[in-house]
Amino acid sequence: MIDADTAKTSSQSLDAKIPPGPIAQKWDTWLDAHRMIGPGNRPGRKVIVIGTGLAGASASASLAALGYDVQVFCFQDSSRRAHSIAAQGGINAAKDFANEGDSVRRLFTDTIKGGDFRSREANVWRLAQLSANIIDQAVAQGVPFNREYGGGLATRSFGGVLVQRTFYARGQTGQQLLLGAYSALQAQVGLKRATVHNRHEMLDVVLVDGVARGIIARNLVTGAIERHAADAVVLASGGYSNVFYLSTNAMGSNVTATWKAHKRGALFANPCYTQIHPTCIPQTGDYQSKLTLMSESLRNDGRVWVPRDPDEKRGPKDIPEADRYYFLEERYPAFGNLVPRDIASRAAKAVCDEGLGVGLIKRGVYLDFSEAINRLGKATVAGRYGNLFDMYRRITDDDPYEVPMMIYPAPHYTMGGLWVDYELQTTVPGLFAIGEANFSDHGANRLGASAMMQCLADGYFVAPRTVTNYMSNTADDVSTSDSAFDATEDAVQERIDAMMNVGGTTAAQSFHRELGNVMLEKCGMSRDADGLSEALTEIGEIRERFWTDLRVDGKPDELNPSLEYAGRVADFFELAELMCLDALRREESCGGHFREEYQTPEGEALRDDEHFAKVTAWEYSEGENAVPIAHDEPLHYENITLATRSYK
Ligand SMILES: Cc1cc2nc3c(=O)[nH]c(=O)nc-3n(C[C@H](O)[C@H](O)[C@H](O)COP(=O)(O)OP(=O)(O)OC[C@H]3O[C@@H](n4cnc5c(N)ncnc54)[C@H](O)[C@@H]3O)c2cc1C
Repeated sequence: MIDADTAKTSSQSLDAKIPPGPIAQKWDTWLDAHRMIGPGNRPGRKVIVIGTGLAGASASASLAALGYDVQVFCFQDSSRRAHSIAAQGGINAAKDFANEGDSVRRLFTDTIKGGDFRSREANVWRLAQLSANIIDQAVAQGVPFNREYGGGLATRSFGGVLVQRTFYARGQTGQQLLLGAYSALQAQVGLKRATVHNRHEMLDVVLVDGVARGIIARNLVTGAIERHAADAVVLASGGYSNVFYLSTNAMGSNVTATWKAHKRGALFANPCYTQIHPTCIPQTGDYQSKLTLMSESLRNDGRVWVPRDPDEKRGPKDIPEADRYYFLEERYPAFGNLVPRDIASRAAKAVCDEGLGVGLIKRGVYLDFSEAINRLGKATVAGRYGNLFDMYRRITDDDPYEVPMMIYPAPHYTMGGLWVDYELQTTVPGLFAIGEANFSDHGANRLGASAMMQCLADGYFVAPRTVTNYMSNTADDVSTSDSAFDATEDAVQERIDAMMNVGGTTAAQSFHRELGNVMLEKCGMSRDADGLSEALTEIGEIRERFWTDLRVDGKPDELNPSLEYAGRVADFFELAELMCLDALRREESCGGHFREEYQTPEGEALRDDEHFAKVTAWEYSEGENAVPIAHDEPLHYENITLATRSYK
């Protein structure tokens, strides 16, 4: 078993290739100096993009518009069904349409502070800088953002900020933004510059002489194993919250693409940083397979409370004001219900641990709109959140216009991911990672409405430039007949055969549920050293049973969801161990990583900047009982002062 003591630490620190000069000019400096490829030479250069969510679709559309031959892969039956379609509440941008004095610097500051001072300054500044371009791009595509009566784009607030910089399309912002990116991609498909391979799952990345030169994918409809070669590979394969089994992510979201890249040499950064979102519909039973998010935007107008009396028997509408505990408003008067997610989640867990929770198993808190409906009127509230209220009513049979919603935290977003430098390139040359698949911009906690901002900044504006820069220096002599493709395809086939041949009695879903329970309990909203060590032992045991008692139905060379699922669960086991190891090694609390041993007397996260103001990026070690190697990237703060986060 691996543990924190046996994990090795490398003395070699990572070069993030941050351009010199003042922070506000770094990206322009980089752009001015980057190498280009002439239009006539672009059609001969091939780029593979894995993923058609906001990051992948926007990158594919932009790379194809430049003239490259873009090959796009997704496992869904339509690129439009990527998990991004579910994003609800909005996207941030420093445009200051609300005339509050917002700026790039303020968005930068909020993001670094929100991430609890564990993200890279230069990347975050660029993100804030590009945020305004994203809105212009989306509006030009026809994305129907909500508008004010006078016609201007409407904005609202999300957690951790004191301005209204979140642009939204009711509660369906991800869907509308993805339709915009999808239309741009389809235009390129029509021009024959982009090819979309739906129902294909990338199962490995192919390295020729240490450089990413292609992928091995399984056609999920026929079961055929395919080889695809390219000059560069971009992973936009999303996050790994489904390691917890129950999460707000799409059921198919998984870690396979990034994990396979990790096993081929790409370092995996900060895997323990996971976000447990405060506003989800509470779990109702053991056989549930999905948790539903209620957007954070609801905390703009909804008030969070629990009864003050643990033995309260009255229904929420009959409990008078004096007997209600508005715990976020009382504990954090400056930000109230709009504190960042990690803080709101821990506060909800704390009041439930005190016995004040509501609902069948007393793991819920109220999110109450009665005051907003009185103040704004039902029609205005419906205009802002109508589809979310309808969704809640359909799932719970309660009408949030009449009674408060019940909510509880659930796994939602993963800040960790493949380590990338300023150019979004992993430690494998030619292999890039964008969107939720990389670790780059959100530190230890992502602020609401910033994920889509990062996906689209990476996809529309950063990757098209940095991939061009990379390809301008490489030769276009790649072929799938290279022996590296033979070896990688053999490895993929061996793994498939191994799963098919176990011949056991238990379906992958059972093992996944067991793994999720361990992760949620011991590596979830709060962790401690004993629990994490126990988790490592328990994961090892479940993993062993998986490989001796797994049942996979059907055959490998046909449509086989049972095999697809087993492969993803097998990778989740390996990732889960690294998450626990990373959480053990980071002996501090920061953002979404809350170690019970490191907290203030008030129960807030206690950082250790002296020892942990750094990114931990893990190198995979091959072989039985091999231990991963930790590499550090020190984080330097020159444009913001390191401080204890306070939202009081
Ligand atoms: C319910 C919900 C609401 C949200 N609301 C907001 C919000 O209001 N604002 C905000 O900013 N963020 C929000 N988020 C977060 C945001 O939606 C995600 O972080 C973001 O959409 C991730 O986009 P992505 O492009 O990185 O990946 P995804 O959208 O997850 O797309 C991944 C793509 O990769 C493909 N893929 C993965 N693995 C493979 C493989 N091995 N082979 C081939 N293809 C593969 C998939 O098919 C898919 O096309 C929300 C998230 C959820 C779950």
